[in-house]
Parts: sequence; C-alpha cells; structure tokens
Amino acid sequence: MSREWCCFFGLDFMIAYRIVDRCIACGVCLDACERDAILTGDIYRILTERCGGCGMCADVCPVDAAKPSLVDDFAVAANS
Ligand code: SF4
Ligand code: SF4
Repeated sequence: MSREWCCFFGLDFMIAYRIVDRCIACGVCLDACERDAILTGDIYRILTERCGGCGMCADVCPVDAAKPSLVDDFAVAANS
C-alpha cells in the first residue's frame, strides 16, 4: 500500500492525520476518505495504519479538527 511521505531536513517521515477533540461528529469526512480510515463515535478517530495522509478529511472538515502528524514508527533517515 502506497503512503504519502514528507521530506524535511534530510529526513523522510510518513504523515498520517488525526482528529482532535474539537470534532463535532458531523460525518462530512467519512465520504472524503477513500481508505475507510475514519471511525465514527462521539469524536471521530483515524486509524493510523489505514491513513494515507492525503489530507482530504482536513480539507472538508468545517471545524478544522483533522490535523497532520508524523508517524514516528516509520521515521527513517533518507540515506539509510
Ligand atoms: S488523510 Fe486521507 S486517508 Fe487519512 S483519514 Fe484523512 S481522508 Fe482518509
Ligand atoms: S468533518 Fe471534522 S468535525 Fe466532522 S466528523 Fe470529520 S473530523 Fe469531526
């Protein structure tokens, strides 16, 4: 499965999105996610292992609750 990568200061990091507590559970992001990575609930959550880092959930969220974050487990040196 392909993933989005971000290069910064000579390091490559994998990006996944997460949903912060301001989520109002409106459901708009569900249709935007092509990977079925979003779980419903009082506050929605994103399954990191499914998220491809495309950012579509953040683009459609009316309260800016989806935020990019580094996936530490996958951080690797660019030239390793
Ligand atoms: S960043 Fe993309 S793949 Fe990840 S949860 Fe949001 S819409 Fe789905
Ligand atoms: S679009 Fe935003 S507020 Fe609505 S469910 Fe998704 S993360 Fe929560």
